[in-house]
Formats: sequence, C-alpha cells, structure tokens
Amino acid sequence: MISKESMETNPCNETVYHGFSVPAKVSRTTKSDATVVNINGVEVGGSGIVIIAGPCAVESHEQLFETARAVKMGGARVLRGGAFKPRSSPYNFQGLGEEGLKLLGQIRNDTGIPVVTEVMDTRQVELVADYADMLQIGSRNMQNYPLLKEAGLCRKPILLKRGMMATIEEFLLAAEYILNQGNDQVILCERGIRTFETSTRNTLDLSAVPMLKRLSHLPVIVDPSHGTGLRWMVPAMSKAAIAVGADGLIMEVHYKPDEALCDGYQSLSLEEFARLMTDLTKIAQAIGRDIL
Ligand code: PEP
Ligand code: MN
Repeated sequence: MISKESMETNPCNETVYHGFSVPAKVSRTTKSDATVVNINGVEVGGSGIVIIAGPCAVESHEQLFETARAVKMGGARVLRGGAFKPRSSPYNFQGLGEEGLKLLGQIRNDTGIPVVTEVMDTRQVELVADYADMLQIGSRNMQNYPLLKEAGLCRKPILLKRGMMATIEEFLLAAEYILNQGNDQVILCERGIRTFETSTRNTLDLSAVPMLKRLSHLPVIVDPSHGTGLRWMVPAMSKAAIAVGADGLIMEVHYKPDEALCDGYQSLSLEEFARLMTDLTKIAQAIGRDIL
C-alpha cells in the first residue's frame, strides 16, 4: 500500500519549483505587486494587453512604413523590426544594420509608434539605444552576460527572450542579471523551446506563462511567430497565450509575407493581423482584460 508519507516525500509530488530558488530581485516573494514596464508611454504588465507587431527584419522604407501603418491601425502599440539579425544560418540576410536603425527612427517619428529592435553585441548597445524605445535581447543571447550587463546599464526597457534551451530558472537568472544593473524595466518573452518535436519550429511552452507570472513580478509576453514557425498556427497560439495570462504578444507581420527576406513563412499578412486582433479582443474580454 502506498502511504500518505511516502506520497508526500516523493519528489514527483512536489507542487512547486522542483528544488530551484527564484532569484530574489525578480521574485514575487520579494515584490508582490506587478512591475509595469513603460515603453515610451506604452505600459506592459498592467491590466491591459499590449500587442507588438512588425516585420522580422527591416528591409526598406516602403516595407517598414506600410507594415507599421497597418499594424498601428489594427491595434498594435509597439513596432518590432530587426536591424541586426541573428539567423539560424550565418549566411542568411543579417539585417541592414545602422541603416535599418535609421529607418526605424524615421518611421517612429512619422507614425508616433515606439519601436523595439534587437541588440546582439555589447559594442552596439549605445547605437541601438539611440534609436530604439526598447532593446531586445534575443534567444541566442539570453546567457550572454556581458551583453545583459551592458544593456541593463543603458536604462532603456529590455525585452528578454527565453533561450531556446533555457529552463525557467536560467531565464529568471538572466533577467535578474539585468535588474542587478539597476534597471527593473524588463519584459520576459516566451518564444518556444527546442524539443524532440520537429513539426513546429519550436515548441511554444505556454505553461511558462502562468509559471513565470507566479514566480516573478515581471511582465510576460509571448512570441507565437518564432514559437511555431507556421503562419497558419499563429492565430490559435496567440489566442491561447492571451487566455493563459500573457501581458502581451510580439508577432511578425509583413506587408508582403511571401517576399519577406526573413521569416516570411511565419509572418502574418496585414489582413490576417487585422482579423486576429478582432478575435484577441474577444478573448481578452472573456478573461476580464482589454487589449490596450
Ligand atoms: C526575433 O524576434 O527577431 C528573433 C530572432 O527571435 P528569437 O531571438 O526568439 O529567435
Ligand atoms: Mn524572425
């Protein structure tokens, strides 16, 4: 017979955290109220849900402008677009670099929408911070501690994407390392992890959302584009992400997805984005929240 005592001491029955401690600075235990990150006037982590949308990479003025205008009209509050691009193969298009940053700055001024873009190297932090309202640290750099440190020092909000092989504990340790620099404006982003499954680009770990929200006071958003790698699946996973409590979404949208230089197969068209926003509003309302 299985005794109550042996059940209670069986590690499989542990309900919380399986032996890791949550780093103090990011822990809900240390700070019970949610941190609200302010991206140049757009608040993430409050009751409203924030949609970040735009192309994977900045390609041209026309591409960025047409996409920015449409996603803003559709309800996105922040524009995404990579100027420096990490790629699965180093021989793929790596972005326009500083020229891309200038286009982001220009479109931000023309449309009034704040922008987030990735920084890949400590030497680029100052330059990227000159143009961006929020700096993104990508999955491949989540444990690049010198970069986390430098980005944390620049005093812009940081969007930290979960490493594709990172545990929740490692993710929170990386976030804490940014907070250690005196910058508490950090948003956590679940973007899918590598598993044995190959039918999707990554396995979108939506259970990370309630887990991170429980363990940490930092806002949590989801990237259904890299999380699935499949345009047709993005709407379903976006709705699910809102339903499990995400504070926002970051998704790839392109004015001509089939001609995109980067990740077109997982980018929504402008029409698909507009349609999805209508559905997301309903899901948000069903759980007592609004899309900002
Ligand atoms: C991106 O968001 O542009 C990106 C490259 O994502 P990730 O770092 O999650 O792969
Ligand atoms: Mn991409």
